[in-house]
Amino acid sequence: MIREKSVTHFGYRDVPVEEKQRLVGEVFTSVASSYDVMNDVMSMGVHRLWKRHFVNTLGVRPGHQILDLAGGTGDIARLMARPLKGDGQIILADINASMLVHGRDRLIDEGLVGTIRYAQVNAESLPFADASFDRLTMAFGLRNVTDKDKALAEMVRVLKPGGKAAILEFSQVRSDLLRPVYDWYSFNALPKFGEWIAKDGASYQYLAESIRKHPPQQELESMMRDAGFDRTDHRNLTGGMVAIHTGIVY
Ligand code: SAM
Repeated sequence: MIREKSVTHFGYRDVPVEEKQRLVGEVFTSVASSYDVMNDVMSMGVHRLWKRHFVNTLGVRPGHQILDLAGGTGDIARLMARPLKGDGQIILADINASMLVHGRDRLIDEGLVGTIRYAQVNAESLPFADASFDRLTMAFGLRNVTDKDKALAEMVRVLKPGGKAAILEFSQVRSDLLRPVYDWYSFNALPKFGEWIAKDGASYQYLAESIRKHPPQQELESMMRDAGFDRTDHRNLTGGMVAIHTGIVY
C-alpha cells in the first residue's frame, strides 16, 4: 500500500501537507505589491537577464499556445508576447489572486492586451484539456508547489506532442567560492531588504530557506523524466544560483 506523505516542508519548518498551500499563499499575498521592486533590489537587476535568457531558450513562434504557470506579476508573459507578434495566446496562470491582479494591471498598463489571458489555477491540478499548449513556462514557481511530481505530470498532460516546457528556478550553487557569500547574503541581507521594502522579513527568510529545500539540478531533471518528459536537460546560470530545466513531450 502506498502511504501519502502527511508532512512537507515550508522553508525549514515541517508542516502538514494541507497547510503548505495556505502558508505559501500568505507569503505571496503579503509581498505582491512590492514583488517587482524587491526582485530588482535583491538580484541587483540580474533576474531580468535570467528571465530574458530563459525566454530566448524556448523558441516561441507566432501561432503558439503558451501556458505561463505561476506567472505572478507577468515578467515572463510579457517577454513571450513579443515573439508571438500578436498571433497566438499566452495564459498567465497563478494560484494567487493578488499576484494575478498586480500582473494583469501592469500588463494592461503596458498596452499588452489581447494576447494574454489570466487564470487562477493550482499547478497541481490544471483546468486545461490534454495536449493544449505548444510551450509551458514556470519561473520561480515550482519551489513553492506542495506536490511537485503532480505539477510535473500535469505539465506533461497539457503539452501537445512536440511541446516544450522550461522551468526557471533557484538551484544549487556549484562554486565553493561563491557558496558562502551567497549563503551569507541569503540569510542576512535578504530578510533585511524584505523588512525594509516589503515590510515582511519572514517571507524573504522563507525564500532563502525554500531555495535550500528545492531539489538540486540532477534530481529535478530525474523528476521530470519520471513525470514523462523526454530529452530533459538543464543549464546553470550564475554558477548554479538558478537553473533552466527543459523537457519535451512526445
Ligand atoms: N513567475 C513569476 C516571476 O518569475 O516573477 C512569479 C514567481 S513568484 C516567486 C512565485 C509564484 O508562484 C507566486 O505568484 C505564487 O502565487 C505562485 N504559486 C505558488 N504555488 C503555486 C501553485 N501551486 N500553483 C500555481 N501557482 C503557484
